[in-house]
Amino acid sequence: MTISGAVLGVVLRTTPLRESDLLGGQQHAEHGRITAVARGGRKSQRRFAGALQLLVLGRYQLGRPPRGELWNLESADIVRDWHPIASDVVAVAHASYIAELAGALLPTETPEPHALELVVALWDALAAGGPSPAVLRTIEIALLDLAGHRPALDACAACGRSELDAAVFDPIRGGAICRTCAAISRNAGVRPIDAGALAYLRAAAAVEAPGDARPLDSDPRFTPGERTAAREALVAMAQHLVGKPLKSLEYIAKLASAGRKP
Ligand SMILES: [Zn+2]
Repeated sequence: MTISGAVLGVVLRTTPLRESDLLGGQQHAEHGRITAVARGGRKSQRRFAGALQLLVLGRYQLGRPPRGELWNLESADIVRDWHPIASDVVAVAHASYIAELAGALLPTETPEPHALELVVALWDALAAGGPSPAVLRTIEIALLDLAGHRPALDACAACGRSELDAAVFDPIRGGAICRTCAAISRNAGVRPIDAGALAYLRAAAAVEAPGDARPLDSDPRFTPGERTAAREALVAMAQHLVGKPLKSLEYIAKLASAGRKP
């Protein structure tokens, strides 16, 4: 058994395993994304001090059997929690979406301190001012970037031409596509995108700390239609890269149809 010592991280998702265990996908600064088994985790939350859930930054004592794929989670402590957010369904939906995206897109066992910072930055922003679409866009773009798929927003994703007279956004070809190259962008996820929506995405990508993106939610330079087009373009790209429907997005769609504004 290799004992790693206690490491700082977050739980991205948990899945019941056998009668009493929990399988958890976690993100750590030190190990990157890993999957660990919490033996007895379904029955004894005490040993894990409530740290096997979203909205908790924890210190996790991990060990690993030789040649094992899965880590063992021995114990855990809460370092910080963002539980007040849990009463806001839209905030929880945003947190769940980013957790699902990180869990699906980031490479396993590749140390990635920035990914953990992004998750925590989202929770901080949700706690500070509630859900913000622009903050969500900033974190989506940063996660896509970390996963090696930064969307092309300044130049054509196909030919690289920078005086971008963008015609469409093509999630499969990797972003904005110029008028010339758009002729062969014909897959299902392709959508028209205008200069305003692209400018909004560039502004979201350019902020230093994700929380600083919030003023873009009410920035008069951008119309609600442009914000919607920008959201749909990024979501289409995330969806394409994950390769299967994201549960958190289905939940967000349900909230939207029930009249909440995600
Ligand atoms: Zn082009």
